[in-house]
Amino acid sequence: MSCQRLLLIGPPGAGKGTQAAKLSEHYGIPAISTGDIFRKNVSEQTELGKQAKVFLDSGEYVPDSLTNALVRDRLAQPDAAGGFLLDGYPRTVDQVAELDRMLSAADTRLDAVVLITADREQIVARLLRRAAEQGRSDDTEDVITHRIQVYEAQTAPLIELYGKRDLLVTVDGIGEVDAVSQRIFAALDGAACAA
Ligand code: ADP
Repeated sequence: MSCQRLLLIGPPGAGKGTQAAKLSEHYGIPAISTGDIFRKNVSEQTELGKQAKVFLDSGEYVPDSLTNALVRDRLAQPDAAGGFLLDGYPRTVDQVAELDRMLSAADTRLDAVVLITADREQIVARLLRRAAEQGRSDDTEDVITHRIQVYEAQTAPLIELYGKRDLLVTVDGIGEVDAVSQRIFAALDGAACAA
């Protein structure tokens, strides 16, 4: 088995987007970021973007109904047939159930779930730096604090859930970008996807 169907989980600011690009290249699979897709729709003012904007700007999760439909459509694209890396999905227990249904309908399953860890001080510092550099609408201090709370309440439970399924690979997200990537590749190649 190889690393063809992967999830990336971690708190806001852990470096998911950066590492998603590295993993995509390394394993030759498309990186699918729900956050990026939502932001693109907001900037293009599509119908989905109009519905999602208020949630993004306030640091809330976009309702599962919208998010699940988006992922269902994206995974049905031909480039995802051979594998994918989902960055930022699933983020709720209901999204996990929905993804399970999508995968079993396609007669496939996940190879591994990568959890990138970083402590609160570090992620806040990173997000504030990104705010200064990129001006993302949800990188203000109040919204950052709220996003971390939402992550703790709604997404942290997924760690235990995927741990029980023996899919979880935990990697320390602190350090140089390339060092973190090497840790992820080593952990995946050495364990989850080697069998
Ligand atoms: P971060 O993890 O740093 O907060 P993302 O780009 O992954 O950044 O997500 C930004 C925002 O996009 C989230 O705060 C949320 O509003 C929305 N979003 C992304 N993925 C999901 C998801 N799976 N479910 C609901 N909302 C999502």
